[in-house]
Amino acid sequence: MMNNIAGNYSRIQERIMNAAHRCGRQPEEITLVAVSKTHGPDLIQEALSGGVRVFGENRVQEILQKFDPPPGPDVELHMIGHLQSNKVKDAVRLCSWIQSVDSEKLLKKISSRAESLGKTMDICIEMNTSGQESKFGLRTTEELFALLETAAGLPGIRLRGLMTIGPLLSEGEAPVRRAFASLRNDFEESARRFQLPHWDSLSMGMSNDFEIAVEEGSTMVRVGSAIFGSREYR
Ligand SMILES: *Cc1c(COP(=O)(O)O)cnc(C)c1O
Repeated sequence: MMNNIAGNYSRIQERIMNAAHRCGRQPEEITLVAVSKTHGPDLIQEALSGGVRVFGENRVQEILQKFDPPPGPDVELHMIGHLQSNKVKDAVRLCSWIQSVDSEKLLKKISSRAESLGKTMDICIEMNTSGQESKFGLRTTEELFALLETAAGLPGIRLRGLMTIGPLLSEGEAPVRRAFASLRNDFEESARRFQLPHWDSLSMGMSNDFEIAVEEGSTMVRVGSAIFGSREYR
């Protein structure tokens, strides 16, 4: 892929728009999070020039290197990777969203940290819909409901919705669709069962499967390599 971030970004936006129209949705309902993990400040600068304002990162260490101080006044940073307790402080300070919450302990820690900074964090609960891909995320609806139960009344957070990483597309499209549909189902069940005034976000879909995710109701796609090019994995 050509390393033209602005061009890649607008092509992804166009594909989101087309996918939305195909299934009778409004493209404005869908936020594109540009996942810049592993890429340096030069590419982030290029993305900013290309109009990107919402970035996703998965490691606090990298966030400290690249987003402290924030590269622009209106930049919104989403933590999308597993968050260790001892990194909560910096994550809360530099991010506006944490999409990867999968325990009561973490949720409480985020809330109290945010409260002491006078911030309210936007939160997604991470669900593991793929079985074995990742060891993170809640695995059952019961676990989700238990967590939502304990989350009621925490002052420093706004519960926005659910996040998942789908199964690999190489396993076929059907399991990917099933995973996304199950996340949507959990999302809707939660809304029926709990008092969740800000519950509006279904974060699913990455470079290889975001169009499927849009068809299954995603309101937030997290796209990395299709915007920034391939990563060097560590
Ligand atoms: C890396 C990552 C992405 C983006 O993946 P691509 O396949 O490069 O689009 C999305 N979500 C999470 C949680 C990630 O870690």
